[in-house]
Amino acid sequence: MPDHITVAGVTVDTRQWIGGQRVASADTFTDLSPIDGSVLGEISRGTPAEAAAAVAAAKAAFPAWAATPRAERARIMHAVADGVEKRIEELAIVETTDNGALLRSHRRGVMPRVAHNFRFFADWLLKLDHEDFETRDHTNHVSWDPAGPSVLITPWNAPLMLATWKVAPALAAGNTVILKPAEWSPLTASLLADIAAQAGLPAGVLNVVQGYGAEIGDTLTSHPDVRRISFTGSVPTARRIAASAAPNLTPLSLELGGKSPLLVFADADLDLAVDLAVEQYDNAGQVCLAATRILVEQPVAEEFTRRFVEKAARLQQGDPREEATDIGPNIHPRQLEKIDGFVQRAVGAGARVVIGGHRKEGQYYAPTLLTDVAQDSEIVQKEVFGPVLTLQTFATEEEAVHLANGTRFGLAATLATGDQERAERVSAQLVAGTVWVNCFFVRDLQAPFGGSRLSGVGREGGTWSFDFYCDLKNTVTAPNGWKNH
Ligand code: NAD
Repeated sequence: MPDHITVAGVTVDTRQWIGGQRVASADTFTDLSPIDGSVLGEISRGTPAEAAAAVAAAKAAFPAWAATPRAERARIMHAVADGVEKRIEELAIVETTDNGALLRSHRRGVMPRVAHNFRFFADWLLKLDHEDFETRDHTNHVSWDPAGPSVLITPWNAPLMLATWKVAPALAAGNTVILKPAEWSPLTASLLADIAAQAGLPAGVLNVVQGYGAEIGDTLTSHPDVRRISFTGSVPTARRIAASAAPNLTPLSLELGGKSPLLVFADADLDLAVDLAVEQYDNAGQVCLAATRILVEQPVAEEFTRRFVEKAARLQQGDPREEATDIGPNIHPRQLEKIDGFVQRAVGAGARVVIGGHRKEGQYYAPTLLTDVAQDSEIVQKEVFGPVLTLQTFATEEEAVHLANGTRFGLAATLATGDQERAERVSAQLVAGTVWVNCFFVRDLQAPFGGSRLSGVGREGGTWSFDFYCDLKNTVTAPNGWKNH
């Protein structure tokens, strides 16, 4: 079996990256491109023994990396960012070919942000102050100690972006990493391993294990030498991971799904509200934060819908490599079936199709808006993870808040309103990790990010990432210090 594949002229190593060595697994899995369903190649299919070897490599590398002066760790992180920036075009085309998200977004937004992830956490590390304070006559010295080997498990919808959002703070904090990318989009994680090695990251500090979560996940998440698990993905997988980590009480960060609302009040700038709504089809709806439930105040519902339909009709769906494309394919035939199943069941239960509601040729799903949906129906309560939005109306602000909070999720919420007091009043009542007012998807790395309820556990970003990836230690020294009494 060859040890690499070539994707759009870029060579990608298909083997594991463990302890600074490429390791070929005995078996492989097939990686497909969602653009046309073509086979990209065979990827090493990790075994529990290889997963355990990656943890052992991370454990062996931990003491030296943790003891590496912060300035040196930060220097290497910036070198990784330099390496990412040099290869933005390659990373962008490989990611687009592998997961079907837009090339123009990868090129201009996502990959520069990947580099920024490393720069941001390198710089934040240098700002992270040890804190000293006095209690009675004693001195307290609070330090941020690296926690240890960290397992980072990531999904396919924004593979390198979401991976580096975890890898960068974990490494900056002085931890070593075992990264397990999703099996539907394994390629850019392998390129990251190359870039990090070339940037001088010591062997074993970053390990990449490819394979099926169901086969190697438990070895990683139940391992007693693993000190942190950060997971982005679905709720069912999160439950398995939490159960597997429970015997060791390994601290978890869980960034999960959502069913976020977009609340459109009658006082909103309606064109802006429509722009915000149509934006929810980005990445073919495969965005955890997507505001898939549009809630519109009754007096403007008809006009909002008219303008929405008009704008959505102008969206170009097709090859994500084309500059003019707005919506690409969905990730996998199984995902398409899942999306269509949700839509057909909703229609069967009485939903009315405003636009879309069907598959298109290839791996594409027509941007869909459904209305006449009940609050307790499956389509309103469950995450579809495709280009499917629902529209409900409300009569009062109280009802809007009630509908918005009326699912088991709590990831994000977006408000369109021209009234600042209303924005403040409503956002205070929403159960959501992030509330956007008259904007969407604006996310600074220093802000806390995460969800409530089934949308997750914990927050990452800025100081919160270091809180998670470090063990805080308080050293209390007697009044006379270390001198003998
Ligand atoms: P998934 O849960 O199926 O898989 C995510 C990762 O978990 C993959 O790498 C997979 O191999 C691994 N995995 C599977 N079984 C495992 C096990 N038993 N032990 C350990 N790891 C295991 O999710 P997905 O379909 O890849 O991603 C889509 C989901 O991710 C959606 O629900 C979406 O909302 C969510 N998501 C959340 C955020 C966020 O920041 N909150 C961001 C992006 C995606």
